Amino acid sequence: MATISENIQQLHGRIERACLQASRAVHSVTLLVVTKTFGPLDVRQAFEAGEHRFGENYVQEGVDKIDALADLRDRIEWHMIGPLQSNKTRVVAERFDWVHSVDRLKIAQRLSDQRPASLPPLNVCLQVNISGEDTKSGLTPDEVAEVARQVAALPNLRLRGLMAIPEPAETLDEQRRPHRALAALLAAINETHGLALDTLSMGMSADMDAAILEGATMVRVGSAIFGARPRPGG
Ligand SMILES: *Cc1c(COP(=O)(O)O)cnc(C)c1O
Repeated sequence: MATISENIQQLHGRIERACLQASRAVHSVTLLVVTKTFGPLDVRQAFEAGEHRFGENYVQEGVDKIDALADLRDRIEWHMIGPLQSNKTRVVAERFDWVHSVDRLKIAQRLSDQRPASLPPLNVCLQVNISGEDTKSGLTPDEVAEVARQVAALPNLRLRGLMAIPEPAETLDEQRRPHRALAALLAAINETHGLALDTLSMGMSADMDAAILEGATMVRVGSAIFGARPRPGG
């Protein structure tokens, strides 16, 4: 079985090829290593292989890992990418560097209020339900521009862009469509509100190439690095 370090190396090759195909600079795409369900030793291996940005879905699991890797805190960016409830915003505002999954104004207001003055502004993305799935969290494409305007004005946040988890699709063309829609939405918001949002958080192990072709600036990849996650209950 390939090691974490070998998988990371392969993944950078894959990012490079997609960038080349899209005529984009390789450094325009940042890798966020998704570490949910994997332990601190795996995270440390990814760090030693050169990665510095890690994404967690569950608040408590993330905080436990931040604590377990306290010696690396100054050299790691921790990103919250999972659904966020109001009663969990304080610990996220205190412990994380980024939140990708802001899906309503109230959550953003709480994060801004609760961000400690000793820390730089919290980087946030608005999550968009780009495929219009009933089960997915996220703002509808119609709502997002107005929420972006309000979130951009909050003092202790830095609104960076948009995030989406499109519905799984088989072909490259089908995969590209929702990513293209998210990129267009970001451009429209920047234009309408005179903002300079720079982050398109989109693309996972299965659809990363399509996302890069459509302008992803941050891809969130877990299983292509660590292998399949254990299924809950199985
Ligand atoms: C789990 C997860 C990922 C990574 O998915 P893989 O298919 O393992 O690459 C990315 N983004 C979010 C929001 C996730 O929950």
